[in-house]
Amino acid sequence: MNEKTESRLEKIVSLCKRRGFVYPGSEIYGGLAGVFDYGPNGVELLNNLKRAWWKANVYDKENYYGLDSGMFKHPKVWEASGHTSGFSDPLAECRECNTRIRVDKELERVGITADEKMSEAEINKLFDSAREKIACPKCGQKNFTSAKAFNLLVKSNLGDFTSEGNDPVYLPGEACQGVYLNFKNVVDTMSPKLPFGLVQIGKAFRNEISPRNFLFRTREMEQADTQFFVKPNENEEAFKRIKQERYDWYVSIGIKPENLRFKQHDNLVFYAKDAWDIEYNFPTLGFDELEGIHDRTDYDLSQHMEFSGADLRYTDPETGEKYIPWILETSVGLGRMFMAVISDAYHEEEMDGNIRTVLKLHKDLSPYRVAVSPLLKNKPHLVEKAREVFTVLKKEFGKVAWDDNGNVGKRYRRQDEIGTPHCVVIDFETLGEENSELKDTVTVRDRDTGEQKRVAIDELIEYLK
Ligand code: ATP
Repeated sequence: MNEKTESRLEKIVSLCKRRGFVYPGSEIYGGLAGVFDYGPNGVELLNNLKRAWWKANVYDKENYYGLDSGMFKHPKVWEASGHTSGFSDPLAECRECNTRIRVDKELERVGITADEKMSEAEINKLFDSAREKIACPKCGQKNFTSAKAFNLLVKSNLGDFTSEGNDPVYLPGEACQGVYLNFKNVVDTMSPKLPFGLVQIGKAFRNEISPRNFLFRTREMEQADTQFFVKPNENEEAFKRIKQERYDWYVSIGIKPENLRFKQHDNLVFYAKDAWDIEYNFPTLGFDELEGIHDRTDYDLSQHMEFSGADLRYTDPETGEKYIPWILETSVGLGRMFMAVISDAYHEEEMDGNIRTVLKLHKDLSPYRVAVSPLLKNKPHLVEKAREVFTVLKKEFGKVAWDDNGNVGKRYRRQDEIGTPHCVVIDFETLGEENSELKDTVTVRDRDTGEQKRVAIDELIEYLK
């Protein structure tokens, strides 16, 4: 970790707070680890990301369908999926200050890869061999308990009126289970022909041992998942295509290719055919998982078929052949996506002799499409004209900022910091008071270049588009 990148993350976290993107959860009560709240600008960016993702994965595709399944699920779901028995991370505690560490991640940091399939004893053997290199992140001591498997599922007491003997109803550990549960419903009601995709954005909760690095590892998150159902063994070509589409999508929303890369998993879970991550070069962390792309074979539907007793086979409409489809999955946390997009857009640069901070967000993602201001807020004629322009632009673009605070320079800086692509200023020339030729024109300032142009109000929408 070098100081320069660390301070860049701190600057981004501070900008997110200062400009209403992301606040620490329950802050007035001292905070709640691993939970963040999106503010007025953050929720707009988040919703724009979801909209762009949904468009790319449902509307722009053929044979892809959206879903929104209930968060709570039958307790057996998490048994069938393997989460009640195997969804755990190795935890150790510092004997000096009780800080908990996630042993596999600490090992990774010192260059040792712990396989997900390893037993507690195997992990502890690695941990013992590396103890001299691993210090407590809080007190710096190297005195830890041994590692124990810690289950990440979050329990609820939904429906728990009699308490004894009831299986707990869990909060979802991942969003995709809702898709598997509705596979049969969609086949029966929509008659999609294989191959087809089911898509969901949903909340997930994990009792992460050490939530950290801002939105990168949180305990409450939202996942955007696609599950593509294919005929058994007809997986390879589709997998290749999906992998590339997901990478290209990140580039299409403005992420720099040099900050993205693929990484293939070395150790696959027993049922998987192939697994890749799209990694992003996160500030402080460096390259780490942004999105997972997994070839899961028939594991998920087979498990649910066995545990529920329902027949989840697909019947080929032409041949009458019955089989359990294989699943190709893509899964990304929206918090990680949000963090990658903001980090990539964040720039500090010189403009007009000053250092400015600017978010060079894709115009379809920025919280506001454009900002409108009267040159002076105490001149009723200017304000009236500016409100007219504001109303017209709002009708066209939806989210438009009205900004009349401070002087124009300050407004530009503020809009730069939240990534507004253009600022429109209504001045005395707009009213035709100084030069009749400029009547009904406005100044439009470009966020990225700082360039200002005179544009006729009639042509403004076209220009901004
Ligand atoms: P990790 O190894 O980082 O714990 P994972 O391999 O368990 O992640 P998956 O279960 O494959 O992750 O989840 C799919 C995606 O969900 C990840 O690529 C990531 O974008 C997101 N994600 C997973 N855990 C978290 C978390 N605690 N906070 C934020 N996003 C997460």
